Amino acid sequence: MKSIGVLGAGTMGAGIAQVFARGGFEVRLVDQASEMIDLAMVRIRSSLDRFVAKEKITLDEAKATLGRIQGTMSYRDLSDVGLVVEAVPEDAHLKSRILSKLDEICAPEAILASNTSSISITRLGAVTRRPEKVIGMHFMNPVPLMTLVEIIRGMATDDATTRTVVEISEKLGKVPCEVNDSPGFVSNRILMPMINEAVFSLMEGVATREVIDTVMKLGTNQPMGPLTLADFIGLDVCLHILEVLHDGFGDPKYRPCPLLRKMVDSGFLGRKTGRGFYEYPSGD
Ligand code: NAD
Repeated sequence: MKSIGVLGAGTMGAGIAQVFARGGFEVRLVDQASEMIDLAMVRIRSSLDRFVAKEKITLDEAKATLGRIQGTMSYRDLSDVGLVVEAVPEDAHLKSRILSKLDEICAPEAILASNTSSISITRLGAVTRRPEKVIGMHFMNPVPLMTLVEIIRGMATDDATTRTVVEISEKLGKVPCEVNDSPGFVSNRILMPMINEAVFSLMEGVATREVIDTVMKLGTNQPMGPLTLADFIGLDVCLHILEVLHDGFGDPKYRPCPLLRKMVDSGFLGRKTGRGFYEYPSGD
């Protein structure tokens, strides 16, 4: 497989395009908005510059990586690629529409992967005529730095597709971990209840935000505390995933904390809005 497609040039799509191009693949990066493609290219260039500055890659490698990414607004440019990773926003209707469109456009042997954080791969596969070739490739943010790729097998995903996607992930220098389709997969099923408990602890006045984060950071050896992490992920994203867990399992243990809901209702979504559990006056 030489060429791959990435659909959606936002935070994740840009990172995914970068790691595939760095891994030697020709990448078609598709978005409906030309400014998102331009922004993605700027972000990729500056990420590669940082790798060059840290002497992780050479200037020539950075140039060659950029040269392998072709930004486009036409889905038709995906007609001859062997794999498409979709990274459009986390909306089940939108993703279903995209998967069914890709099914029409892409070659019958092409693998269709989704970077969804929580939507059922089985459901996405079912809207296509090739559910055995539909799989989850859940990259972590920031994609060029995070080594995990959670590989999610839908009910119908076949062994050949899984094997190919595992091998490709390894070629990108990532560590693929194969899991079965289930609400929140493994990563968010475990992470989100932890974040939710941190918010409950804050709401109930068990400790201050700083103390909660410090206890978890130093006590469980995490690089950042759960409230800081929630701000980084986006509180709306956390709430959405908790709702998926709550609906999917029907178990009250996943009930989103009312404080989390209130913050989302207030528009305090974390870093991206300048305020979440902490304040980010300069936007970062
Ligand atoms: P984003 O909002 O930054 O980017 C989405 C991009 O998709 C935008 O550029 C938008 O213009 C484009 N888009 C929307 N509709 C489109 C369409 N019909 N056709 C083509 N392009 C379209 O979103 P993101 O944070 O990169 O998230 C993308 C996916 O990755 C989601 O499923 C999310 O759950 C998942 N994810 C996100 C993170 C994270 O930390 N951001 C981590 C893991 C997984």
